[in-house]
Amino acid sequence: MYAADSETFSLVGIYGGTFDPIHYGHLRVAEELIEAVDLQSLRFIPAGLPRLRGKPNTSSFHRTAMLRAAIQNNPKFILDTRETIRPGESHSVVSLRELRDETERNLALCFIMGADAFIRFSEWYAWQEIFKLCHLIVVDRPGYLSTINNNTLPKALNKEFKQRQEFCIKSLKESSHGRIFIAPTTLLDISATTIRQNLLTGKSTRYLLPDTVLEYIRTNQLYSPGAE
Ligand code: ATP
Ligand code: MG
Repeated sequence: MYAADSETFSLVGIYGGTFDPIHYGHLRVAEELIEAVDLQSLRFIPAGLPRLRGKPNTSSFHRTAMLRAAIQNNPKFILDTRETIRPGESHSVVSLRELRDETERNLALCFIMGADAFIRFSEWYAWQEIFKLCHLIVVDRPGYLSTINNNTLPKALNKEFKQRQEFCIKSLKESSHGRIFIAPTTLLDISATTIRQNLLTGKSTRYLLPDTVLEYIRTNQLYSPGAE
């Protein structure tokens, strides 16, 4: 599946996560990657039942609705609900297999993840198969990138990382899958955990996530004591 000499692949982004709720950390990274990595489009895929964490605080229905409210005015952002519809635990590899089959061959899929997710990547279901389906684009989160750069990744993951790391977009576009690119994006110390805690304790969450999402949270009384 590697391109011939003169051929290059166009890149499309896939952003998986719990999005409980979506916030400006996710959105700003997505916006910057469209430009910095030259992504044609970026597909948000909320997990139904994430495998490596407890049950989300809110239902797939609400998390999807918040995502929709957050991305509605961006023509390059796409909402993909396949994991919320599929029964059982959500596995990114299953979505990536499907997307690979559905996507034109001249497009390379780029799975986006924060550095906190990447350091646990070798715990993901069928993680090595993921390299056969897409590239990985890793973005920093405060305190995590040093783990990747200081050789303190789990051994098997570190080996893959060393073999697969690319340092420029041009090289990324020369393959359809299997490369890892650390993308420079604005470091934003925003997490859904902090937002949920603030909402629970009555602290402000303004400017951490879009007003449309906050409004949805208020209207549906999410993340308050006794909610869901
Ligand atoms: P939680 O605190 O509930 O884990 P979160 O803020 O980490 O929520 P997730 O839905 O778990 O959000 O994250 C989905 C993806 O987005 C992950 O790959 C995560 O690393 C990445 N991500 C989340 N927040 C940021 C951020 N502020 N900057 C960069 N990447 C982020
Ligand atoms: Mg997280």
